[in-house]
Amino acid sequence: MQDCIIIGSGPAGISAALTLWANGKSFMLFGRADLSDKITKAELIRNYPGLSLVTGQAFCEALQAQLSEAKIAVTEEKVLGVYALNGKFGVSTKEGGYYESKTVILALGVETVKTIEGETEFLGRGVSYCATCDGFLYKGKTIAVLCTNKRYEHEVAYLADLAETVYLIPTYKGVELARENIKILRKMPVKIEGDQRVETLVFSAPPAEGAEARLKIDGVFALRESVSPAVLLSGLETENGHVRVTRDMQTNIKGCFSAGDCTGRPYQYAKAVGEGNIAAHAVTAFLRDGDQE
Ligand SMILES: Cc1cc2nc3c(=O)[nH]c(=O)nc-3n(C[C@H](O)[C@H](O)[C@H](O)COP(=O)(O)OP(=O)(O)OC[C@H]3O[C@@H](n4cnc5c(N)ncnc54)[C@H](O)[C@@H]3O)c2cc1C
Repeated sequence: MQDCIIIGSGPAGISAALTLWANGKSFMLFGRADLSDKITKAELIRNYPGLSLVTGQAFCEALQAQLSEAKIAVTEEKVLGVYALNGKFGVSTKEGGYYESKTVILALGVETVKTIEGETEFLGRGVSYCATCDGFLYKGKTIAVLCTNKRYEHEVAYLADLAETVYLIPTYKGVELARENIKILRKMPVKIEGDQRVETLVFSAPPAEGAEARLKIDGVFALRESVSPAVLLSGLETENGHVRVTRDMQTNIKGCFSAGDCTGRPYQYAKAVGEGNIAAHAVTAFLRDGDQE
């Protein structure tokens, strides 16, 4: 049982981790060893105090060095579910891990890709975020895969080994998958429809020559960097897609805090770092004093 589980290895999560470490708390930090695309892909950072004209890559390396000096490891697992259970939290990952903590900090960043109408409604009834968890359910079937990063192409290949037909809808250029049963569509669907389960993927117009604007499918996989916070933790209040937080980064769920881009604009490193720090101090106070209400 950890004092805290931090989900997200961007500036907000790292700042929270460094503060919890300084405060002597036990925690796990979930994310990636290369921390965040939103750090590494920044060409030149001009507005971060103390670092003038640093590249994203150099910023990332400085953060990695700081984590390693503090002996803070990043657990490279993707969190698929957070469960609030009587004063503690359970966290499950795509890799099959299950962890428990007294508090959580959601520092997930934001996806620029919007969820599709019907996606949340059909989650677990034909919509999945995890190829390796649910792929076997679609053996010999027809599925659509929304993929936001080349990094997930091995998961698409895994699905193509099982399914009869895969409609791949990538949001990036340079797809490197060439299989007979993978059909690439360069148009985002607008809606997922069905009765009890997913049945149809609806486009505003035919997504390719000779294709229908309503595709009959058995399932949809959305392979994205992050999962929407409200999907991750049931009952979490959001507003316009952002986690609703108080001044001390507390969400509506006791013991659950949030920081960084996922709580709202401005999307900036300094804001993410500041909020991560506040969230970690709030966690420390919560562990010490309990709920004061
Ligand atoms: C190209 C580019 C350039 C930018 N330049 C600047 C700049 O010059 N100055 C500036 O102030 N801001 C800049 N920004 C904005 C800045 O990158 C973001 O505001 C900042 O990274 C937000 O930090 P964060 O920690 O909230 O989220 P992120 O950096 O997005 O980190 C979130 C992390 O959480 C992980 N994660 C998400 N979901 C899960 C899950 N379910 N399980 C495990 N891990 C998960 C992700 O993999 C990611 O590592 C730039 C952004 C981009 C894209």
